[in-house]
Amino acid sequence: MIGAVDIGGTKIAVGIVDGDGRLRHRLERPTHPEGGYSHALECIAAMLREAARLVGVEVSGIGIGSTGPVYPFTGEIGDVNFFPHWRGENPVRDLERIFNVSVAMENDADAAALGEAGWGAGKDKKRLIYVTVGTGIGAGIVLDGRLYRGVDDAHPEIGHHLIDPSGPLCSCGFHGCWEALAAGPAMVNWLTSQLPPNYSHRENLTAKRICELAREGDELACKAVGREVYYLGLGLANLVTLFAPDAIVLSGSVMKSADLFLDGIRKIIAQSCRFVPYERTEITLASLGEDTNLIGAARVWYHRFATKEGQCV
Ligand SMILES: [Zn+2]
Repeated sequence: MIGAVDIGGTKIAVGIVDGDGRLRHRLERPTHPEGGYSHALECIAAMLREAARLVGVEVSGIGIGSTGPVYPFTGEIGDVNFFPHWRGENPVRDLERIFNVSVAMENDADAAALGEAGWGAGKDKKRLIYVTVGTGIGAGIVLDGRLYRGVDDAHPEIGHHLIDPSGPLCSCGFHGCWEALAAGPAMVNWLTSQLPPNYSHRENLTAKRICELAREGDELACKAVGREVYYLGLGLANLVTLFAPDAIVLSGSVMKSADLFLDGIRKIIAQSCRFVPYERTEITLASLGEDTNLIGAARVWYHRFATKEGQCV
């Protein structure tokens, strides 16, 4: 039984995950970055104890997926936009000390990629790319069951690969990154920039709401969905051309409306990836559902510690 911790910008979730990747209990609370790291650590420890008590087990290890950047091998939190004052704090070392078990941490997209690769839609795929599309675009690459890392164990920032240099300004300072064109806020920003004076749905626009309006036949929302298909499709086509993976697994809040996007995405891939066997790349949805991040956090522990002959078990 592994304790799982998912540290996000707005909430921290904790759970107990069994050896088959089943989430046995889940608790969550708002992140409250202004409350300080020590308070958050106390809450994580208390939630882990409570979850373990309710399931009636003791945890034998703890896996963490955290919004990044994080340093997986030192356990330190980097310069995270959501909680800048936590920089340099070390939840791996601290939870090891509190629970006296081994602890491993990865970027949350990498954690979710490992979860889907081990227990979800990417099971038995040799070359898997996991992409989550929500308020940003995160991705993780798993090759032969092992996480792909860059130099200095860096997490590749696929959401910031360039699609259109004349595109909108991105949070990274560049223009036209995939995330700036195809994450949920990009849909809202584009539609808002196109609003006619008499548009009747201007309140509370979100990517989800735009998708609902498109289903109702709203012309501008349909255009926003078409634009989303185009930019999502271009980024995914780039991944197919660059990696020719066995599967790309899609997740995130925008992908809850995947039925509006998938056919169009597949057409763009077919048009632009003819030098690789694109038809062999499965474009599929994450199968662990709402709990992908938490189950992935548990898989981080297995990936780091439970290895047999170099392969993740
Ligand atoms: Zn960027």
